[in-house]
Amino acid sequence: MEKEINKKTLTQLAEGLRQGQFSSEELTQYYLERIDLFNGKINAFITVTREEAIQQARAADKALAAGKSGPLTGVPIAHKDIFCTRGIKTSCGSKMLDNFISPYDATVVKRLKDAGAIMVGKTNMDEFAMGSSNETSFYGPVHNPWDHDRVPGGSSGGSAAAVASKLVSAATGTDTGGSIRQPAAFSGVTGVKPTYGRVSRYGMVAFASSLDQAGTLTQTAEDAALLLESMAGFDRRDSTSLNEPVPAYYDAIHEPWQNLTIGVPDNFFDEGLDPDNAQAVKDALKIFEKLGAKIKDVHLDHLDLSVPVYYVVAPAEASSNLSRFDGVRFGHRSKNVKNLNEFYMQTRGEGFGAEVKRRILTGTYVLSAGYYDAYYLQAQKVRKLISNEFMRIFSEVDLLAGPTTPTPAFKIGQKTDNPVEMYLNDIYTIGAPLAGLPALSVPCGLVQGLPVGLQLIATHLDEARLLKAAHYFQKETDWHLHIPPGYDERER
Ligand code: GLN
Repeated sequence: MEKEINKKTLTQLAEGLRQGQFSSEELTQYYLERIDLFNGKINAFITVTREEAIQQARAADKALAAGKSGPLTGVPIAHKDIFCTRGIKTSCGSKMLDNFISPYDATVVKRLKDAGAIMVGKTNMDEFAMGSSNETSFYGPVHNPWDHDRVPGGSSGGSAAAVASKLVSAATGTDTGGSIRQPAAFSGVTGVKPTYGRVSRYGMVAFASSLDQAGTLTQTAEDAALLLESMAGFDRRDSTSLNEPVPAYYDAIHEPWQNLTIGVPDNFFDEGLDPDNAQAVKDALKIFEKLGAKIKDVHLDHLDLSVPVYYVVAPAEASSNLSRFDGVRFGHRSKNVKNLNEFYMQTRGEGFGAEVKRRILTGTYVLSAGYYDAYYLQAQKVRKLISNEFMRIFSEVDLLAGPTTPTPAFKIGQKTDNPVEMYLNDIYTIGAPLAGLPALSVPCGLVQGLPVGLQLIATHLDEARLLKAAHYFQKETDWHLHIPPGYDERER
């Protein structure tokens, strides 16, 4: 096996397999060994599917030898534990689903399997994807590989930490209010949240159905393009899936640079933003200027309202979605109950963690008679204003750019006692999902040794342009190539 495989991107691994530089079994074994070596430090995996992965890798090697390979044949990846995987535990980070074995594969899982990818495991996450720090998981917090005392971001923190520490070259994630982009920024990887409806939600445990969207955590935008091409597209099993053709993203991002106007919201740079983080983003914008992009100042009038709107809409939908976890059909079931009421109350009381309960309570409150008009309806109206504002701005600019997060990764425990402070951490990422827009985060600097992200947002279904801009940025920079100290390949 050649050295420094961990430095290779998903694209390079797929190519290396096709060229016969290494076999899928060797590659899969290599990543499984890295998981054995490092997962104890970061807790990025809930389940490692060792035997299944080796079996799949052997089949991939046969397919490669027979010249019957797909775009991802033989490359090991991981799935966030929110995606149903047939015959394998799907916990969603919750005690409620600790014993849940899905009888079917989510569409995302199936499509990536069909494209040839090997699943090495399921990654840790905030319980039911509710969180920005991966501290709400029933399986314990994930540690940021750049500093083990810090959070990796959430809720797709396991996927982000696994890719950052090269326990796998790519992973899936989901983003409802920032859960792909925020952990990508904190962990120093590339995180892409596509347009709402671009990727099927079938088999993805629901949090807030009008916001949830699956995407990717990878080393590069090129890798994201490769994965997304296999994941995206219409699915009749998801009623909000978009019936639109999927462009050839991978080819599209390699086309010649075309000039862009990039809007930069001035209020993304208000006092809440760490000055060094701000500087890294400003330096990134200079790279785009060098490429020939025009930078234009814009203003998001409703930025301050996005967090409050989200924290009405998302819990409302969550309270409804999570009512299915009642102990009757699947998941945790409380023992020693005397009557039906106790059965429900104890099952849900024991199965859900504190943050999930907080969301269910808030959601039930804002949907209840008397408060529905004051909170939920009002929030929906403001959500529409936020969408309209984005659409107005996108008639003047091609992309929006700014920071992904206000600060680099914070310490484990730093914000757990103050949910409002935790929620405000999502200020820059929440707008895009409220408007259904595609957005991504790419590494754009290190602040005191910790990665920070540049966020790019595009108009609906404009993923190709978004990924292309990120790809050109990565051709000019090397922030995405940094490996956290201690995770470089050991002498083997
Ligand atoms: N941090 C946000 C929340 O806790 C977003 C989570 C997500 O995108 N899944 O709701």
